[in-house]
Amino acid sequence: MHHPAGPPDDDSGTLFGLDALGPRPAGASPGTGRPPRAEPHLDSAAARRLLPVREIFAEPAAAASPRGRQIIARHPGARVTPVRSHWNIPGLHGNEGSVERWVRIKGETLVLGEKKTLATRPNGRSADWIAPGTSNGCAMACAYCYVPRRKGYANPVTVFTNIDRILAHLARHVAGQGRKPEPNQCDPEAWVYDIGENGDCSVDALICDNTADLVHAFRQWPTAKASFATKFVNPGLLALDPRGRTRVRFSVMPPDDSRLLDVRTSPVAERVAAAADFLDAGYEVHFNLSPVVVRPGWEGAWAELLDHLDDVLPPRVKRQAAAEVIMLTHNRELHEVNLGWHPRAEDVLWRPELQQAKRSQNGALNVRYRDGAKGEAVRTLRSLVEARAPWLRVRYAF
Ligand code: SF4
Repeated sequence: MHHPAGPPDDDSGTLFGLDALGPRPAGASPGTGRPPRAEPHLDSAAARRLLPVREIFAEPAAAASPRGRQIIARHPGARVTPVRSHWNIPGLHGNEGSVERWVRIKGETLVLGEKKTLATRPNGRSADWIAPGTSNGCAMACAYCYVPRRKGYANPVTVFTNIDRILAHLARHVAGQGRKPEPNQCDPEAWVYDIGENGDCSVDALICDNTADLVHAFRQWPTAKASFATKFVNPGLLALDPRGRTRVRFSVMPPDDSRLLDVRTSPVAERVAAAADFLDAGYEVHFNLSPVVVRPGWEGAWAELLDHLDDVLPPRVKRQAAAEVIMLTHNRELHEVNLGWHPRAEDVLWRPELQQAKRSQNGALNVRYRDGAKGEAVRTLRSLVEARAPWLRVRYAF
């Protein structure tokens, strides 16, 4: 899925005076922007800072499963509370009483559940297929994130512990497709499966081996490729040996926007600086130019970001890179929640004069840039890419 923030030039950890946001995750090496050397990811400083887990809500079967036991054992100080379902946990999911606490909840709470319905859905834009995710929710807190729209706003990571069933489902799906009959923009040869629709696989890899298991599974499937977008640089992923069968899509946006909107993520310069390390470790590395937020001066900010990509990425990264361009969509309910904890983000995200609303099937009011304005912004961004980073093939833009 997705797109992510952090506030103005302030790495002190007190963002907008909200201590709850916690410091930037460890991993940035000031000055170089390069990620630190790989360390055992599950016990890394990044994991401890981003996920100081104190409370685990668990369905009994999930808690008893090997993956569940593994996760619980890693947090001996956490209270484990049994729940009947990983959905609708009172006091956790939903809005009430949690607006000020919801970012803290993201770091201090995990939910363990079993994914009951396993389905792979066709997509055709970002990937050919959307795989059943092994998680839902995220420890980061991008102000525009669509994941909480369905789940309630305090939206910590739910880990699905029945990874073996998910892998078996995927194996059957991959076998059922056979070879890809013809190239498309997703990939010239492989069927591409998005494995991170409702979370961030790099963060999930701080919690347990679900991401590693997926990366290892796709290595055995020559007709398929895993793909996930991320805003977090987790050096632990460098040790997974994906052998070209996993595509990492680093989401990037101008650093000023990111500091305002991408709460708790890795700084954009660090994501860009990590690209070569991920390529050298065996990943395919693409970029998500997303979300594109139209605000005064946005064109200049994107031009600078594209110049930065052009300056710092080595030729071997550029040769294989491609990008998705995704214009911001927003949502009235999320807008109202954000006003409670991060109103400055809404100055740029909520622009009724530029946006049109569409009521979705579940009654939510989603907004996106008006047709004319959106088309023009997409054209502007495409020409900026052509002028500033002509090596960056735009796979699709919408
Ligand atoms: S990084 Fe997490 S919070 Fe941000 S957009 Fe992605 S899933 Fe949402």
